[in-house]
Amino acid sequence: ELEIHDLIKWFEITNERIQQHKDYLTGLDQPIGDGDHGINMARGYQEAVTKLSQAEYQEPSEVLRDASMALLSKVGGASGPLYGTAFLKMSLAVKGLETINAASLVNGLSAALLGIKQRGKAEAGEKTLVDVWGPVVDYISSEESNLRAEDLTSQARMAMERTKEMMATKGRASYFKEKSIGHIDPGSASSYYVFASLAEVWK
Ligand code: ADP
Ligand code: MG
Ligand code: MG
Repeated sequence: ELEIHDLIKWFEITNERIQQHKDYLTGLDQPIGDGDHGINMARGYQEAVTKLSQAEYQEPSEVLRDASMALLSKVGGASGPLYGTAFLKMSLAVKGLETINAASLVNGLSAALLGIKQRGKAEAGEKTLVDVWGPVVDYISSEESNLRAEDLTSQARMAMERTKEMMATKGRASYFKEKSIGHIDPGSASSYYVFASLAEVWK
């Protein structure tokens, strides 16, 4: 279950990981992009946690909406609108709920995944965020009644690692065609931090 303070903590822990691995994320974006993914995510997540620390919330959906707006306006690049859309869709899917249980987490993350796919016109296997969000949603849906933090983290990590062998057909990495193979997708790496952090606050 996730309460308001758990959601805020989710963004705080994700932010810590992203700040810690900012150069790593940017490094992943150098060979198959423009080398700014760590910078983009660090700027956006910092803004999101600052905003969350300053407001008072009545329900979880409001936390997700504020985070979404901060990411949408501050991350930039291709990933900003995608992460922004993901958390906005998740916010709408859990509107009115006092806490987010496993079933509403499935609903919320499924809505987020659909939002990413629509906004990015991306499907599974195109070496994008979808390749981590998709497998994570599948895992959470199938283990809904028995979610284990370690499994959530390892499923997200394995999904991120599988992007290495994919050829990018969306976003900047697609300009590199076959040369995009052999590199982990930067957006999948940041998504791994998102879900490893979710695993830390889930109870
Ligand atoms: P930019 O490519 O504009 O510099 P970022 O470097 O911040 O933006 O983000 C790049 C990441 O965004 C990629 O690694 C990929 O995961 C994700 N991405 C790019 N285009 C798409 C898309 N059309 N659909 C889904 N994800 C995408
Ligand atoms: Mg980039
Ligand atoms: Mg860029």
